[in-house]
Amino acid sequence: MSARTRRRISTRTDVPRGKDELRASCGGRRSRRGRPLLGRGPLSAKEGKHTVSELTYAPERAEELAEAHARIRAEIDEWAAETPRDRRPASGVELMTVTKFFPASDVAALYDAGVRVFGENRDQEASAKAAALADYAAGDPPAWNYIGQLQSNKAKSVVKYATAVHSVDRSSLATALGKAYRSAVARYESEEGPEPASAANGGLECLIQVGLDDTGATPGEAARGARGGADPDDVWRIADHIAEADGLRVGGLMAVAPLGADPAQAFEKLWNLSVQLRRRHPEAWKISAGMSADMREAIRWGSTSVRVGSAIMGRRPSNT
Ligand SMILES: *Cc1c(COP(=O)(O)O)cnc(C)c1O
Repeated sequence: MSARTRRRISTRTDVPRGKDELRASCGGRRSRRGRPLLGRGPLSAKEGKHTVSELTYAPERAEELAEAHARIRAEIDEWAAETPRDRRPASGVELMTVTKFFPASDVAALYDAGVRVFGENRDQEASAKAAALADYAAGDPPAWNYIGQLQSNKAKSVVKYATAVHSVDRSSLATALGKAYRSAVARYESEEGPEPASAANGGLECLIQVGLDDTGATPGEAARGARGGADPDDVWRIADHIAEADGLRVGGLMAVAPLGADPAQAFEKLWNLSVQLRRRHPEAWKISAGMSADMREAIRWGSTSVRVGSAIMGRRPSNT
């Protein structure tokens, strides 16, 4: 029996947590003002639900994940060094590990190997994993990036755990996210709810997902390859809309290379859109581009954040 087990005891959901507590180390319970509570005795009813979260992973799996992550990290750095200087991000290229389909225990294993940036594309799954990890990683929660298509009625759930949404493809979604974020902050301030994940960063970062399906694909390929995203002509209007919304920040652009087309062509187009966007919104410098199969081309075209799933986690069933 070599599986590794860690337990965390914590209060959650109904108890608002102060910033001090979020930054506090894992040891011992703390009051919402950051004052350590004595002992680990039973919680009073006022302190909320008492939950024990347990995430167990096999050391072999943990080693496999940590090795794959380190290998991809090294590849990214090598490729970034080859990126022409004017397109190379000063901050380096961020590696987001996409954990969709894989269990929270895999996230815990990566977390223990030092990984802090994750991506998910379905609210229900993301929300469950974020809750599991919040207990596990109390005091130093990982960043959860929402990267999937999103219905406006899920905004309320997403703002609880997401530090960024990479898939804003319409103004109405930005409106819903802004409204959900502000009401979550209001509930937190009146001590009725937990602090939204992005509050510590001064607001929810929104990247605009652009559809690049016309880059050299035949109409048939474009139809097969349709992977969502705003029309490039709508980017400016959506960016202005996000910038004007209280509680939202424009982070930059995101795209998925169309199937059946040359990814380099798509990423070149994304780069050019990003140059234009930054003239109007200099703060929106991020380019979220590149997945397991095409990260090298994306990095060459100035990607600041690659979203890598299968190359780190292993294969998934094909429709996820
Ligand atoms: C699943 C997914 C990824 C990761 O894909 P891999 O090919 O497994 O690396 C990246 N971006 C988005 C939007 C995804 O849905």
